[in-house]
Amino acid sequence: MLRINEHFQKLPGSYLFAETARRTKVYQQEHPEQEVIRLGIGDVTQPLVPAVIRAMHAAVDEMGQRETFRGYGPDFGYDFLVNAIRQGDYAARGIDLAFDEVFISDGAKSDVGNIQELFAPDAVIAVTDPVYPVYVDSNAMAGRAGDWTGERWDCLVYLPCNEENSFVPPVPDRPVDVIYLCYPNNPTGTVLTKDQLKVFVDWARENKALIVYDAAYKAYISTPGIPLSIYEVEGAREVAIECCSFSKTAGFTGTRCAYTVIPHEVKALTSKGETVELNAMWKRRMATKFNGVGYPVQRAAEAVYSAEGQAQIKAVIAGYMENARIIREGLTARGFRVFGGMDAPYIWLKTPVGIDSWTFFDKLLNECQVVGTPGAGFGPSGEGYFRLTAFNSKAKTEEAIQRLDWMKM
Ligand code: PLP
Repeated sequence: MLRINEHFQKLPGSYLFAETARRTKVYQQEHPEQEVIRLGIGDVTQPLVPAVIRAMHAAVDEMGQRETFRGYGPDFGYDFLVNAIRQGDYAARGIDLAFDEVFISDGAKSDVGNIQELFAPDAVIAVTDPVYPVYVDSNAMAGRAGDWTGERWDCLVYLPCNEENSFVPPVPDRPVDVIYLCYPNNPTGTVLTKDQLKVFVDWARENKALIVYDAAYKAYISTPGIPLSIYEVEGAREVAIECCSFSKTAGFTGTRCAYTVIPHEVKALTSKGETVELNAMWKRRMATKFNGVGYPVQRAAEAVYSAEGQAQIKAVIAGYMENARIIREGLTARGFRVFGGMDAPYIWLKTPVGIDSWTFFDKLLNECQVVGTPGAGFGPSGEGYFRLTAFNSKAKTEEAIQRLDWMKM
């Protein structure tokens, strides 16, 4: 009989969101008269903007006509979308990308999860802590994380981010092959300046490491000087892959479209010491395992870059960021220490002294009927912190913050 990949057996259950959902359900069953407000959701709630819908409708109509019907598309994305990305997200900021350095996909989750297929089985992986779990779990499934100790993976290198270091991760204190960075950060909502990011790019160049840069939330950046792309940093083309998504930029979480940039300069070694372009490997991998994103979806994504589309998505993001402001200011006024939420839809708060993140979850649910996400679920350094998101409606966000007055301290 088939033997399984036993690295899967080492994975702890996907405990975090299952457990917050379970506790919320139990509370609602016991208190059916209470309305619970969810500030735990990491999903957008506003509909697709009109420019996107119009483009998608037109493309669907094309698919219904023999003359304009399209079958399989290009493996790495249609020219019109690749060029819209090169122009709108890069050339407009002085970054020149070759056409074949951009790969269209169905999600940043797929790309950040799949990219590790290119790495040696014994590659050493560093992640910031707390962390978006996909980087960790995808490497754990491939056997690179070692064993789960109940709190951490014994072969991963954790780069702690906390109030003491202002959520700026230290560079690894030992050799690593890959560093996953996510900015604006999920879950902390914090960002890195260009100088802070440069420290990582310089380290990666000196130590021959690769940076996988997840910029899924870049559209939320409004502070001048905060880089929207790692390629704004000199030298990054040699060492960084960048993963971006239309999910949080334009409400595509249920529509599915994203892209990954792999510059030709990014290289790695074979066991014989020859250098290989990761771009060529990713092409091979995508051509074998992926058949492209649907034509109407790529047309919809293209419309994000039209003047109308840009104005419309910016208005939606401004609405979410107004919620972030309400949460940040409301928490600060009530004496909480608050981080993030300036250039990201996530607010990371310090739980009151002596209250761990799961106890805070229970207090918030039981005393205020508000749901968030305990920081401990994102990694050992998340203990003592709590994540709230800006994706609910303004009215519900305001009500949730007012309810904090009911909390017994
Ligand atoms: N990267 C980060 C940091 C995320 O938080 C998320 C979704 O929450 C994703 C990637 C997933 O993006 P996509 O919807 O494009 O798969």
